[in-house]
Amino acid sequence: MKKQSRAKFIFVSGGVISGIGKGITSASLGAILKSKGFKVSPVKVDMYLNQDAGTIRPQEHGEVFVTDDGIETDQDLGHYERFIDQPLHRINYITTGQIYHEVLTRERQFEYDGEDVEAIPHVTDEIIRRFELAAHGVDFVIIELGGTVGEYQNAIFFEASRILKLRYPNDVMHIHVAYLPIPAYLGEMKSKPVQQSVRMLNSMGIEPDIIVGRSEVSIDERRKERVALFCNVDRDAVLSNPDVATIYEVPVILDNQHAGELVLNKFGFKQRTRDLKDWRKLVKTVKSISRQIKIAVVGKYFGTGNFELADSYVSVIESLKHAAWSYKVAPKLTWIDSLKVEKQGAAAQLTGYDGIVVPGGFGSRGTEGMVEAVRYAREKKVPYLGLCYGMQMATIEFARNVAKLKGANTTEVEPKTPHPVINIMPDQEKKLLKREYGGTMRLGAWDCTVVRGTKTEKEYIVSGVIGKSGTSRISERHRHRYEFNNQYRARLEKAGLVIAGTTPDKKLVEIVELPDHPYFVGSQFHPEFKSRPLKPHPLFSGFVRAIVKNKKPRN
Ligand code: GLN
Repeated sequence: MKKQSRAKFIFVSGGVISGIGKGITSASLGAILKSKGFKVSPVKVDMYLNQDAGTIRPQEHGEVFVTDDGIETDQDLGHYERFIDQPLHRINYITTGQIYHEVLTRERQFEYDGEDVEAIPHVTDEIIRRFELAAHGVDFVIIELGGTVGEYQNAIFFEASRILKLRYPNDVMHIHVAYLPIPAYLGEMKSKPVQQSVRMLNSMGIEPDIIVGRSEVSIDERRKERVALFCNVDRDAVLSNPDVATIYEVPVILDNQHAGELVLNKFGFKQRTRDLKDWRKLVKTVKSISRQIKIAVVGKYFGTGNFELADSYVSVIESLKHAAWSYKVAPKLTWIDSLKVEKQGAAAQLTGYDGIVVPGGFGSRGTEGMVEAVRYAREKKVPYLGLCYGMQMATIEFARNVAKLKGANTTEVEPKTPHPVINIMPDQEKKLLKREYGGTMRLGAWDCTVVRGTKTEKEYIVSGVIGKSGTSRISERHRHRYEFNNQYRARLEKAGLVIAGTTPDKKLVEIVELPDHPYFVGSQFHPEFKSRPLKPHPLFSGFVRAIVKNKKPRN
């Protein structure tokens, strides 16, 4: 084991309730430290035994975020990327499953030299090894410990953090994010649950350095003092993180309370630069926006209410916001269950929306409704953006209704379709036959050549991703098993479908668009994984611009 590790480790844990925004807090801290000139590497620890998030139902887990190197991760990595504005990798995502898989594989290879393999030190050592992998070349590793303190499942990671601190007392700190409820019948903020939660941390041998109090409203001085006293931290190290209108305000809120300085002082670092200017400007813009655009998102997981949905499509929602804000409008999203479109018809469900999005999805349920939504968007000239499955649905709709290929479909939905315009990729078929499901899709960043002269090209040029001449190579993230069937390419192009992007070898269609339409673009990749609050993605920008332009005459 290394004697001195240069990077500092900041653990972020959660207490009292789940879902209080440890991810946003970690991401915000990353943004703050980066703005001060430091290099950060955020890590998410998930306690489940799955090796990645790819095999978990979206209703269960929320969005599966995909990195450049093709890992299917927790949505928190999406927040980290958006806040810190840097691509993350395999090393930034740890699950209990990965850790045990590694330890058990090593055991079978006799790498423990006949020792009995135990949770401590073997599992904790593997966890620490993984923490240190993320520490190369950076100043801070911010490790978000999934779950809530006191759970049986995540205890081993807390234990690893304790051991790391024992080894390197000057290189480790702990931030505890906990909730202060305001019971309606009392109308008063209570700090006792935070105290209890910190006790639980203490019982594991961990003393927090900073407490971030999450609550509906700001925490007042008196309560800050109580938390400081009973939780054994400095008064200045109790930070208030109230509910906010936009998550992008959190870095500003924490920066105003000197969160960055607290961390730097703790480790004896000197502050380098200080600049959250762009964030502050963004927050100001967002707060000043009064105009809304109405967007219908049509998909299948939408029968269960808005609560879960927002979680399953976080990156899509954020990307729409980023693009909309850059045009000084705010997106108002309505989730439309494609089964309803199927049953009641597109006009009944989709009239009155400024734009329509069909996001990624799997399986056959509700796909006829998605195809109908595409048809509505195409015929009524409503701006349309198809993301992965949404691109495949657009291709099917065009094949059926414009190219007159009756019964055209994807083999994912109808294996015996007479016109498989979307078909399984040959290598994927083999994997599925062998039941090799986990981590086997076409995943991560792949290059794509944008076709010159298309509308898509214009969007990538306007956004500065490609130039007006020279290479039109872009890199986008994927997660799919099916693809545009090249046997139908000539026929569909002849009928008017524009292929606006392909893989560099031209073999795989990556983007389709329609001429004579305000905006109709579908991409096989997921552009939403690369949008940033201050750098909206070209395809989302084009979509929003078309909407804003469309709306003008009416306003
Ligand atoms: N189900 C489709 C496929 O596997 C689309 C996947 C997606 O939307 N991510 O190709």
